[in-house]
Amino acid sequence: MQVPLLDLTLQYRGIATEVMPELLTIIEEQRFILGPVVDRFEREMEAYLGVRHAVGCASGTDAILLALRAFDCGRDDEVVTSPFTFFATAGAIHNVGARPVFADILPGTFNLDPAAAEAAVTERTRVVMPVHLFGQMADMPAFRALAGRHGVSLLEDAAQAIGARQRVDGEWITTGTLGDACAFSFFPTKNLGAFGDAGMTVAIDDGTAERLRKLRVHGGRQMYHHEEVGYNSRLDSLQAAVLSAKLPHLKGWSDARRRNAAFYDQALAGIGGIQTPVVGEDHESIYNQYTLRVGDGRRDALADFLRERGVGSGVYYPVPLHLQECFAYLGYCEGQFPESERACREVLSLPVFPELTPAQLEYVAESVRAFFGE
Ligand SMILES: *Cc1c(COP(=O)(O)O)cnc(C)c1O
Repeated sequence: MQVPLLDLTLQYRGIATEVMPELLTIIEEQRFILGPVVDRFEREMEAYLGVRHAVGCASGTDAILLALRAFDCGRDDEVVTSPFTFFATAGAIHNVGARPVFADILPGTFNLDPAAAEAAVTERTRVVMPVHLFGQMADMPAFRALAGRHGVSLLEDAAQAIGARQRVDGEWITTGTLGDACAFSFFPTKNLGAFGDAGMTVAIDDGTAERLRKLRVHGGRQMYHHEEVGYNSRLDSLQAAVLSAKLPHLKGWSDARRRNAAFYDQALAGIGGIQTPVVGEDHESIYNQYTLRVGDGRRDALADFLRERGVGSGVYYPVPLHLQECFAYLGYCEGQFPESERACREVLSLPVFPELTPAQLEYVAESVRAFFGE
């Protein structure tokens, strides 16, 4: 049996008749840049998340970059974030001219540890950026309080966690509602994926939103009049049409991922040598990844074993950002963030996409059990 880590063709077949007519209309009208289809998707996202402002852009990476610029974060500023994340989180900090400052993660959830982040704050810190990794929110009330205590901006990297939830004082909150701004990615492998690159920044504050709208079109409110130097980072009409058509399905897809995760949780329970994902009691993950910890240095052997049996898996991420060659200038060394470094050695993500069949799920679980002789 073949079980790929992700198969997007199945999702496409399910929604093709909803997506394609509008794409053809846009092509026939030849109106590709921003415009009413993008406006509509922005209003839909505001309603979906319950936020005041949603501003589309070209990618999740740019969504972070534009937010940092909107906070006037640049030279001589520091941004505290996690070293166990996709590269773009820290790449965007570097590219606005600021300095990435790392703090270690919590071993259970893989998310930035609020206490460690607070210890890394200095008088130069401008922004704290928790990452909601693998589909589960970082502890947002703790980060909100931290940001308040130190007078810094709070930016969420929610590229992997659109619609994830955390219960705060009995009420569910979602990504983008407690941060000063929040970045989303619509890269095809994210839970809400475009037919190419796309992203979005949401913001609470009117001024921040206005800045974002300006920065994505070269820093001018009016064409050919530029108050500052911005970027060319717009959301295409074609991508917005795809995302609008997919948005009503997002909750159902994330529910299906949770069902698949619950199956694995049960089927893999009790195997010595692995740890299934830890989701906090007050959290609801959207499982962009279902990520095991594999101990005793056996992670790569398990991945090889699964590959031989036709099961795809992925290592997100093999190298922590503080040890990336391009960040050598920051002066970090091995051993500084032991939990992030251990996670890089132990993590292995299994297929969890919504269209997996019961037989495929059973086969994946059986294969993992077989590796451990269970
Ligand atoms: C995917 C991702 C990004 C970047 O998004 P792109 O749309 O690929 O630019 C940023 N941060 C995290 C955590 C991601 O997973």
